[in-house]
Amino acid sequence: MLNVQNITFSYTKKSADTPVLNNLNFSVNRGEHVSIIGESGSGKSTLLKVIYGEHDLNEGQIFWDDTEILGPKYNLVVGYDFMKYVAQEFDLMPFITVEENIGKHLSNFYPKEKKERVRELLEVVELEDFAKTKVKTLSGGQKQRVALAKALANKPEIILLDEPFSHIDNFQKQSLRRSIFNYLKEKNIVCIVATHDSEDVLGFADRMIVLHDSTIMANKSPLHLYKNPETPLIASFFGEFNLINNKIIYAHELKRVETSDLKVLVQQSYFKGHFYLIEAYSEEDVIFFENATNLERNTEVFLEIIERQ
Ligand code: ADP
Ligand code: MG
Repeated sequence: MLNVQNITFSYTKKSADTPVLNNLNFSVNRGEHVSIIGESGSGKSTLLKVIYGEHDLNEGQIFWDDTEILGPKYNLVVGYDFMKYVAQEFDLMPFITVEENIGKHLSNFYPKEKKERVRELLEVVELEDFAKTKVKTLSGGQKQRVALAKALANKPEIILLDEPFSHIDNFQKQSLRRSIFNYLKEKNIVCIVATHDSEDVLGFADRMIVLHDSTIMANKSPLHLYKNPETPLIASFFGEFNLINNKIIYAHELKRVETSDLKVLVQQSYFKGHFYLIEAYSEEDVIFFENATNLERNTEVFLEIIERQ
Protein backbone atom coordinates (compact mmCIF):
# COMPACT_ATOMS: atom_id res chain seq x y z
CA MET A 1 0.00 0.00 0.00
CA LEU A 2 1.14 3.55 -0.75
CA ASN A 3 0.74 5.74 2.30
CA VAL A 4 0.96 9.49 2.02
CA GLN A 5 1.01 10.84 5.56
CA ASN A 6 0.54 14.52 6.42
CA ILE A 7 2.81 15.76 3.67
CA THR A 8 3.54 19.43 3.14
CA PHE A 9 5.72 20.71 0.34
CA SER A 10 6.76 24.11 -1.00
CA TYR A 11 9.35 24.94 -3.64
CA THR A 12 10.76 27.79 -1.57
CA LYS A 13 11.39 27.03 2.05
CA LYS A 14 10.38 30.50 3.30
CA SER A 15 7.84 29.91 6.03
CA ALA A 16 5.62 32.82 4.91
CA ASP A 17 4.85 31.16 1.55
CA THR A 18 1.73 29.04 1.19
CA PRO A 19 2.91 25.54 0.37
CA VAL A 20 1.93 23.99 -2.97
CA LEU A 21 0.78 20.91 -1.04
CA ASN A 22 -0.48 21.50 2.48
CA ASN A 23 -0.92 18.56 4.82
CA LEU A 24 -2.10 15.88 2.36
CA ASN A 25 -3.20 12.47 3.56
CA PHE A 26 -4.26 9.50 1.48
CA SER A 27 -3.44 5.91 0.71
CA VAL A 28 -3.57 3.81 -2.43
CA ASN A 29 -4.00 0.04 -2.42
CA ARG A 30 -2.06 -2.38 -4.57
CA GLY A 31 -3.47 -2.42 -8.10
CA GLU A 32 -5.68 0.61 -7.53
CA HIS A 33 -6.13 3.29 -10.20
CA VAL A 34 -6.29 6.82 -8.77
CA SER A 35 -6.74 10.05 -10.72
CA ILE A 36 -5.36 13.32 -9.45
CA ILE A 37 -7.45 16.15 -10.81
CA GLY A 38 -7.52 19.89 -10.25
CA GLU A 39 -7.11 23.15 -12.08
CA SER A 40 -3.88 24.06 -13.82
CA GLY A 41 -1.37 25.04 -11.13
CA SER A 42 -3.17 23.15 -8.37
CA GLY A 43 -0.14 20.94 -7.76
CA LYS A 44 -0.93 17.72 -9.65
CA SER A 45 2.52 17.42 -11.22
CA THR A 46 4.17 18.45 -7.97
CA LEU A 47 2.32 15.71 -6.09
CA LEU A 48 3.51 13.06 -8.56
CA LYS A 49 7.10 14.29 -8.30
CA VAL A 50 6.94 14.26 -4.52
CA ILE A 51 5.61 10.68 -4.53
CA TYR A 52 8.44 9.74 -6.87
CA GLY A 53 10.98 11.15 -4.43
CA GLU A 54 12.10 14.00 -6.64
CA HIS A 55 11.71 16.62 -3.90
CA ASP A 56 12.36 16.70 -0.18
CA LEU A 57 9.22 17.19 1.89
CA ASN A 58 8.85 20.05 4.37
CA GLU A 59 6.81 17.73 6.55
CA GLY A 60 5.28 14.29 6.53
CA GLN A 61 6.26 10.90 5.15
CA ILE A 62 5.47 8.64 2.20
CA PHE A 63 5.69 4.85 2.36
CA TRP A 64 5.33 2.02 -0.13
CA ASP A 65 4.60 -0.83 2.27
CA ASP A 66 7.56 -0.59 4.65
CA THR A 67 9.86 1.38 2.35
CA GLU A 68 9.99 5.10 3.02
CA ILE A 69 10.21 7.24 -0.15
CA LEU A 70 13.04 9.67 0.42
CA GLY A 71 13.97 12.79 -1.50
CA PRO A 72 17.31 13.81 -3.04
CA LYS A 73 18.72 14.95 0.29
CA TYR A 74 18.75 11.31 1.44
CA ASN A 75 19.15 9.51 -1.88
CA LEU A 76 22.06 9.68 -4.29
CA VAL A 77 19.85 8.48 -7.16
CA VAL A 78 16.30 9.79 -7.32
CA GLY A 79 13.61 7.12 -7.59
CA TYR A 80 13.08 3.47 -6.74
CA ASP A 81 13.04 0.31 -8.86
CA PHE A 82 9.43 -0.47 -7.95
CA MET A 83 8.14 2.87 -9.19
CA LYS A 84 8.19 4.57 -12.59
CA TYR A 85 7.25 8.09 -13.48
CA VAL A 86 6.33 9.38 -16.92
CA ALA A 87 6.70 13.14 -16.90
CA GLN A 88 4.84 15.63 -19.06
CA GLU A 89 8.17 16.16 -20.84
CA PHE A 90 9.40 12.68 -21.75
CA ASP A 91 12.93 11.56 -21.57
CA LEU A 92 13.91 9.45 -24.61
CA MET A 93 17.03 8.85 -26.72
CA PRO A 94 16.23 10.42 -30.11
CA PHE A 95 18.89 8.71 -32.22
CA ILE A 96 18.02 5.10 -31.44
CA THR A 97 14.92 3.16 -32.46
CA VAL A 98 11.62 2.73 -30.66
CA GLU A 99 12.42 -0.85 -29.63
CA GLU A 100 15.88 0.11 -28.41
CA ASN A 101 14.40 2.88 -26.27
CA ILE A 102 11.78 0.55 -24.79
CA GLY A 103 14.36 -2.13 -24.04
CA LYS A 104 16.96 0.33 -22.73
CA HIS A 105 16.75 -0.86 -19.13
CA LEU A 106 15.99 -4.51 -19.84
CA SER A 107 18.72 -7.03 -19.19
CA ASN A 108 20.72 -8.29 -22.18
CA PHE A 109 21.37 -11.61 -20.45
CA TYR A 110 18.05 -12.94 -21.71
CA PRO A 111 17.83 -11.79 -25.33
CA LYS A 112 14.81 -13.98 -26.15
CA GLU A 113 12.80 -12.73 -23.15
CA LYS A 114 13.87 -9.18 -23.87
CA LYS A 115 12.64 -9.41 -27.44
CA GLU A 116 9.36 -10.95 -26.33
CA ARG A 117 8.84 -8.29 -23.66
CA VAL A 118 9.51 -5.42 -26.09
CA ARG A 119 7.05 -6.97 -28.55
CA GLU A 120 4.38 -7.20 -25.84
CA LEU A 121 4.92 -3.55 -24.86
CA LEU A 122 4.80 -2.36 -28.47
CA GLU A 123 1.40 -4.01 -28.65
CA VAL A 124 0.15 -2.32 -25.45
CA VAL A 125 1.04 1.13 -26.78
CA GLU A 126 -0.04 0.23 -30.34
CA LEU A 127 3.34 0.95 -31.95
CA GLU A 128 4.09 -2.46 -33.52
CA ASP A 129 4.76 -0.88 -36.91
CA PHE A 130 7.31 1.56 -35.52
CA ALA A 131 9.72 -0.83 -33.77
CA LYS A 132 12.61 0.00 -36.09
CA THR A 133 11.88 3.72 -36.41
CA LYS A 134 14.26 6.23 -34.87
CA VAL A 135 12.54 8.14 -32.07
CA LYS A 136 13.59 11.54 -33.41
CA THR A 137 11.33 11.10 -36.44
CA LEU A 138 8.21 10.36 -34.36
CA SER A 139 5.34 12.72 -33.59
CA GLY A 140 4.78 14.01 -30.04
CA GLY A 141 2.03 11.48 -29.46
CA GLN A 142 4.16 8.58 -30.66
CA LYS A 143 7.01 9.67 -28.40
CA GLN A 144 4.58 9.77 -25.50
CA ARG A 145 3.68 6.16 -26.22
CA VAL A 146 7.33 5.09 -26.34
CA ALA A 147 7.84 6.77 -22.95
CA LEU A 148 4.87 4.81 -21.55
CA ALA A 149 6.20 1.51 -22.87
CA LYS A 150 9.68 2.23 -21.52
CA ALA A 151 8.24 2.96 -18.06
CA LEU A 152 6.37 -0.37 -18.12
CA ALA A 153 9.35 -2.40 -19.36
CA ASN A 154 10.64 -3.55 -15.97
CA LYS A 155 7.20 -4.25 -14.50
CA PRO A 156 6.98 -1.56 -11.84
CA GLU A 157 4.58 -1.93 -8.91
CA ILE A 158 3.58 1.73 -9.17
CA ILE A 159 3.38 3.93 -12.22
CA LEU A 160 2.93 7.70 -12.03
CA LEU A 161 1.58 9.26 -15.22
CA ASP A 162 1.46 13.01 -15.80
CA GLU A 163 -1.14 13.95 -18.43
CA PRO A 164 -0.30 10.69 -20.25
CA PHE A 165 -2.39 11.26 -23.37
CA SER A 166 -2.03 15.00 -23.76
CA HIS A 167 -0.03 14.73 -26.99
CA ILE A 168 -2.10 11.95 -28.50
CA ASP A 169 -4.79 12.80 -31.01
CA ASN A 170 -8.45 11.98 -30.50
CA PHE A 171 -8.39 9.32 -33.21
CA GLN A 172 -6.05 7.15 -31.17
CA LYS A 173 -6.67 8.30 -27.62
CA GLN A 174 -9.69 6.12 -26.84
CA SER A 175 -8.20 2.80 -27.78
CA LEU A 176 -4.76 3.59 -26.36
CA ARG A 177 -6.30 4.60 -23.05
CA ARG A 178 -8.20 1.32 -22.82
CA SER A 179 -5.14 -0.66 -23.80
CA ILE A 180 -2.82 0.94 -21.20
CA PHE A 181 -5.29 1.13 -18.33
CA ASN A 182 -6.55 -2.42 -18.84
CA TYR A 183 -2.97 -3.64 -18.99
CA LEU A 184 -2.14 -1.92 -15.67
CA LYS A 185 -5.25 -3.39 -13.99
CA GLU A 186 -4.50 -6.84 -15.30
CA LYS A 187 -0.93 -6.68 -13.94
CA ASN A 188 -2.15 -5.23 -10.61
CA ILE A 189 0.06 -2.15 -11.02
CA VAL A 190 -0.85 0.93 -8.96
CA CYS A 191 -1.57 3.72 -11.38
CA ILE A 192 -1.69 7.36 -10.32
CA VAL A 193 -2.64 9.68 -13.14
CA ALA A 194 -2.54 13.48 -13.05
CA THR A 195 -5.01 14.76 -15.60
CA HIS A 196 -7.52 17.46 -16.42
CA ASP A 197 -9.27 15.25 -18.97
CA SER A 198 -12.41 13.60 -17.59
CA GLU A 199 -12.11 10.88 -20.22
CA ASP A 200 -8.88 9.71 -18.60
CA VAL A 201 -10.82 9.24 -15.39
CA LEU A 202 -14.35 8.03 -16.10
CA GLY A 203 -14.56 4.34 -16.69
CA PHE A 204 -11.04 3.74 -15.40
CA ALA A 205 -10.30 5.37 -12.04
CA ASP A 206 -11.30 3.69 -8.80
CA ARG A 207 -10.88 7.00 -7.03
CA MET A 208 -10.48 10.71 -7.81
CA ILE A 209 -8.37 12.96 -5.64
CA VAL A 210 -9.36 16.58 -6.24
CA LEU A 211 -6.66 19.13 -5.43
CA HIS A 212 -7.68 22.67 -4.61
CA ASP A 213 -6.11 25.45 -2.52
CA SER A 214 -3.13 23.21 -1.70
CA THR A 215 -5.33 20.58 -0.10
CA ILE A 216 -7.50 17.60 -1.01
CA MET A 217 -11.00 18.84 -1.73
CA ALA A 218 -12.37 15.33 -2.30
CA ASN A 219 -11.15 11.76 -2.41
CA LYS A 220 -13.97 9.46 -3.56
CA SER A 221 -15.02 7.27 -6.48
CA PRO A 222 -15.97 9.06 -9.73
CA LEU A 223 -19.51 7.69 -9.40
CA HIS A 224 -19.90 9.08 -5.89
CA LEU A 225 -18.57 12.50 -6.89
CA TYR A 226 -20.73 12.59 -10.00
CA LYS A 227 -23.86 11.90 -7.94
CA ASN A 228 -22.84 14.18 -5.09
CA PRO A 229 -20.78 16.99 -6.56
CA GLU A 230 -20.03 18.90 -3.40
CA THR A 231 -18.62 21.95 -5.15
CA PRO A 232 -18.97 23.62 -8.56
CA LEU A 233 -15.35 22.70 -9.25
CA ILE A 234 -16.16 19.01 -8.90
CA ALA A 235 -19.35 19.35 -10.96
CA SER A 236 -17.48 21.14 -13.75
CA PHE A 237 -15.39 18.02 -14.21
CA PHE A 238 -18.49 16.09 -15.31
CA GLY A 239 -19.68 18.68 -17.81
CA GLU A 240 -21.89 21.74 -18.06
CA PHE A 241 -24.06 22.42 -15.02
CA ASN A 242 -26.33 25.04 -13.39
CA LEU A 243 -26.81 26.29 -9.87
CA ILE A 244 -30.57 26.31 -9.34
CA ASN A 245 -31.73 27.18 -5.81
CA ASN A 246 -28.16 26.49 -4.73
CA LYS A 247 -28.29 22.96 -6.08
CA ILE A 248 -26.00 21.66 -8.78
CA ILE A 249 -28.07 20.51 -11.76
CA TYR A 250 -26.21 19.09 -14.75
CA ALA A 251 -27.27 20.35 -18.19
CA HIS A 252 -28.65 16.90 -19.09
CA GLU A 253 -30.83 16.94 -15.96
CA LEU A 254 -33.07 19.63 -17.43
CA LYS A 255 -35.81 18.46 -19.74
CA ARG A 256 -38.05 20.52 -21.99
CA VAL A 257 -41.73 20.32 -20.98
CA GLU A 258 -45.04 21.95 -21.99
CA THR A 259 -45.09 24.26 -19.02
CA SER A 260 -43.28 24.71 -15.70
CA ASP A 261 -42.00 27.34 -13.24
CA LEU A 262 -38.69 27.53 -15.03
CA LYS A 263 -39.11 29.58 -18.19
CA VAL A 264 -36.03 30.40 -20.28
CA LEU A 265 -35.23 32.20 -23.51
CA VAL A 266 -32.86 30.44 -25.91
CA GLN A 267 -29.67 32.30 -26.68
CA GLN A 268 -27.43 29.86 -28.50
CA SER A 269 -27.35 26.19 -29.60
CA TYR A 270 -24.12 24.21 -29.79
CA PHE A 271 -23.96 20.97 -31.78
CA LYS A 272 -22.46 18.22 -29.59
CA GLY A 273 -23.04 15.06 -31.62
CA HIS A 274 -26.02 13.16 -30.26
CA PHE A 275 -27.50 16.32 -28.66
CA TYR A 276 -27.37 20.12 -28.70
CA LEU A 277 -26.17 22.08 -25.69
CA ILE A 278 -28.52 25.03 -25.34
CA GLU A 279 -27.50 28.24 -23.63
CA ALA A 280 -30.54 30.16 -22.40
CA TYR A 281 -31.53 32.96 -20.04
CA SER A 282 -33.90 32.80 -17.13
CA GLU A 283 -34.07 36.49 -16.17
CA GLU A 284 -30.38 37.30 -15.56
CA ASP A 285 -29.19 33.75 -14.98
CA VAL A 286 -27.60 31.66 -17.70
CA ILE A 287 -29.08 28.18 -17.89
CA PHE A 288 -27.55 25.30 -19.83
CA PHE A 289 -29.62 22.32 -20.91
CA GLU A 290 -29.46 19.56 -23.46
CA ASN A 291 -31.92 19.10 -26.28
CA ALA A 292 -32.18 16.58 -29.09
CA THR A 293 -32.56 19.29 -31.71
CA ASN A 294 -31.31 22.75 -32.48
CA LEU A 295 -33.44 25.59 -31.03
CA GLU A 296 -33.83 29.02 -32.62
CA ARG A 297 -32.60 32.07 -30.71
CA ASN A 298 -35.35 33.69 -28.58
CA THR A 299 -37.48 30.53 -28.47
CA GLU A 300 -39.35 30.37 -25.17
CA VAL A 301 -38.85 27.06 -23.41
CA PHE A 302 -40.10 25.55 -20.14
CA LEU A 303 -37.77 23.26 -18.24
CA GLU A 304 -38.17 20.62 -15.60
CA ILE A 305 -35.50 19.05 -13.42
CA ILE A 306 -35.12 15.30 -13.82
CA GLU A 307 -34.30 13.53 -10.57
CA ARG A 308 -30.68 12.26 -10.50
CA GLN A 309 -30.57 8.44 -10.49
P1 ADP B 1 -0.38 21.34 -12.11
O1 ADP B 1 0.39 20.17 -12.55
O2 ADP B 1 -1.62 21.01 -11.32
O3 ADP B 1 -0.70 22.28 -13.23
P2 ADP B 1 2.10 22.10 -10.78
O4 ADP B 1 2.36 21.02 -9.79
O5 ADP B 1 2.88 22.09 -12.04
O6 ADP B 1 0.53 22.18 -11.06
O7 ADP B 1 2.35 23.50 -10.07
C1 ADP B 1 1.81 23.83 -8.80
C2 ADP B 1 2.38 25.18 -8.37
O8 ADP B 1 3.77 25.08 -8.14
C3 ADP B 1 2.20 26.28 -9.39
O9 ADP B 1 1.91 27.47 -8.71
C4 ADP B 1 3.54 26.35 -10.08
O10 ADP B 1 3.79 27.63 -10.54
C5 ADP B 1 4.50 25.99 -8.95
N1 ADP B 1 5.71 25.29 -9.45
C6 ADP B 1 5.74 24.19 -10.22
N2 ADP B 1 7.02 23.79 -10.46
C7 ADP B 1 7.82 24.68 -9.81
C8 ADP B 1 9.24 24.81 -9.64
N3 ADP B 1 10.09 23.93 -10.19
N4 ADP B 1 9.68 25.85 -8.90
C9 ADP B 1 8.83 26.73 -8.32
N5 ADP B 1 7.49 26.65 -8.42
C10 ADP B 1 6.98 25.64 -9.15
MG1 MG C 1 1.00 19.50 -14.43
